[in-house]
Amino acid sequence: MENCLFCKIVTGEIPSKIVYQDDHVVAFEDIHPQAPVHLLVIPTRHIASMSDIEPDDGPVLAQIFTVAKQIAHERKLEDGYRFVTNVGPHAGQSVLHLHFHLLGGKPMGWPPF
Ligand code: C5P
Repeated sequence: MENCLFCKIVTGEIPSKIVYQDDHVVAFEDIHPQAPVHLLVIPTRHIASMSDIEPDDGPVLAQIFTVAKQIAHERKLEDGYRFVTNVGPHAGQSVLHLHFHLLGGKPMGWPPF
């Protein structure tokens, strides 16, 4: 989608540290990491947020979780990690392209506010 930051990361128009890419999913390092491991996993297709997911998106969501699990394994996050998506202003969503944060490498608190 025009003017979408993460669509431009998918096409390479905006540089990023991509760690995984296939036709449906891209994973890259968050530009402002909040933990020793902080990546974003996104669908290549523009979906604004979790609120815009359709039933047909099932396979891409499964792939997103599979990629995240694989990266967590590669980064040796055996003590645990968090995989979260922010939806809308109350959750602090700042980029309107569905993205999941993969956070790990240190103990984290709960609840996250
Ligand atoms: O959930 P939220 O929308 O706030 O997360 C957006 C994330 O995208 C932030 O963690 C921010 O650091 C990241 N970001 C990025 N590269 C950009 C712009 C934003 O990794 N070029």
